[in-house]
Amino acid sequence: MMTVTEIFEKTRPWWLERVKISLGNLIGLIPHFEEFLGKIFDTIAKCMPSGNMAEIDRAIQEWAQLVVNAQLPPNQVNWVEVWVKIMETTFQTNQNRLNEAECLALNSALQPVFSHAINQASVVEIKNCTWHLENELLRVRQILERIEDSKSDFISVAAHELRTPLTLIEGYTSMLREAMPTEDTRRLQAALCLKGINSGTKRLRDIVDDMIDVSMIDNNLLSLNFQPIWLNRIFDSVKREFQDILVERKLDFKIYPFNGSSEMIFGDGERLFQAFHNLIANAIKYTPDGGSISVDGRSLPGFLEIVVADTGIGIDPEQHNKIFEKFGRLGNVSLHSSGKTKFKGGGPGLGLPITKGIIEAHGGAIWVESDGHDEIKCPGSKFHVMLPMRKSPPNDRTSHFFSQH
Ligand code: ADP
Repeated sequence: MMTVTEIFEKTRPWWLERVKISLGNLIGLIPHFEEFLGKIFDTIAKCMPSGNMAEIDRAIQEWAQLVVNAQLPPNQVNWVEVWVKIMETTFQTNQNRLNEAECLALNSALQPVFSHAINQASVVEIKNCTWHLENELLRVRQILERIEDSKSDFISVAAHELRTPLTLIEGYTSMLREAMPTEDTRRLQAALCLKGINSGTKRLRDIVDDMIDVSMIDNNLLSLNFQPIWLNRIFDSVKREFQDILVERKLDFKIYPFNGSSEMIFGDGERLFQAFHNLIANAIKYTPDGGSISVDGRSLPGFLEIVVADTGIGIDPEQHNKIFEKFGRLGNVSLHSSGKTKFKGGGPGLGLPITKGIIEAHGGAIWVESDGHDEIKCPGSKFHVMLPMRKSPPNDRTSHFFSQH
């Protein structure tokens, strides 16, 4: 009577031939394919009589590594499928080539080996997939970080490079103003030029300042100067800034008093002015002539909620997060006319990220509510700002904490 090992050995040539056909799709993916099949056969043969599966575990690990080393995507070789195919082909070969008694004896001996191998292969398969996914995630994260770094580097380099020539132009403009000709017509011409240069440099100065602010926020360098402030006074000063433009654009602007708006709280007055100035400038920019803008709010436990609402073109819900990212301006960049308060006059897309940075540095939050973008129906937008109602300036440690967003 032959042993199961001897019976299995007898099937070797047929086994190699049949398994090679059934695993044909792996030829080319696995180096030295025939040698590889021979090793599988030997490993099965070794584990079968002893029931010791250590050998097969080691082999499965080794083969999985072949795929990892070849940097093949995980779906190219499915080890569970490979083992199921080997098992099926083996049983078929045994049935075709052996007599009933031999076939039964061999298949019963092989069954635990295959069950173990399939189990082990599925563990390896999952590990392999996880490894690939982790690698992919890492790659994506590195790309994102590179983009983020290059944006941030670009802003700080560009801002600092622009600052020097800008200061030069501003200096020469004021020298020119003093050296103005006295003759009337030439004086008028020169004054006109100066006005042009002035408004150009002012716009450039605003952009450079915004770029510096964004890079400070990005690098956690925005430090706040906590002072007693009154929100209604801040809103009034912003309104005064825009008085002429509100009349020119026939925009109705209302500031509603609310619980807490006339109370003294601690905050950085200049920075909060800048934040609400940005929100109201946007409300003006994205509301057609004749529309209305309002500032309202309410008091909540420990917080004040301020809402800047407009009857403008609105913002698509999918864009509600994007607009708070730097350069997150929407629409076709080339269609934007430039101008700080013209209808749809675009900017560089830095206003909202700065506003968000300022509010978050105060320990607050900002978000937008709008049904969508429609330049005909004008669904409007509401910017909600939550600001902690601080009754005393934060101490050094907490101010550091609040400036980390
Ligand atoms: P920008 O300099 O382009 O105004 P912001 O960061 O201030 O940059 O705003 C980003 C984008 O958010 C704008 O380009 C605009 O598309 C959209 N947006 C901001 N505020 C409003 C608003 N009140 N109504 C409609 N769209 C707005």
